[in-house]
Amino acid sequence: MSEKTGQCLCGAVKLTARNVPSTFNICYCDMCKRWAGGRFMGLHVAKDDLNVTGGDSVTEAVTSDWAKRAFCNTCGSSLWYEVTDGPYVGGRSICVGLLDDTSDLTLGTEYYTDRKTRAYDFPEGRKQLTEAEVLALFAPTDAEEGEPE
Ligand SMILES: [Zn+2]
Ligand SMILES: [Zn+2]
Repeated sequence: MSEKTGQCLCGAVKLTARNVPSTFNICYCDMCKRWAGGRFMGLHVAKDDLNVTGGDSVTEAVTSDWAKRAFCNTCGSSLWYEVTDGPYVGGRSICVGLLDDTSDLTLGTEYYTDRKTRAYDFPEGRKQLTEAEVLALFAPTDAEEGEPE
């Protein structure tokens, strides 16, 4: 259990989570796939253990009878999945990709593995590019640093 910080792409929403577990979970269900743009990787924390700044930029969408999902209404980043009914009510699963440091996290449980998109079973022998190689391809030649759009 530890504390983790994170933010959305534009930085309008910032998160600090306490009592964070050492494992994250993956969900392959169709709803998570569409919401997260692929498999959803989430870190489960109690709602009371998640401090959020930039709340004006958070929009929540009710997506089922027992859950809602939050996203940044400025940049569109998916933020968290929140259970609103049933035995796990009050839990929030934060998108792992928002976190500043994930080096100590390991995969815990995979949900809906029968719905897994086979494209996620990445094959061997694929082309792999480092950050520097990507920047050489996409960045304007006068840019000293930055990320591909
Ligand atoms: Zn944002
Ligand atoms: Zn799901």
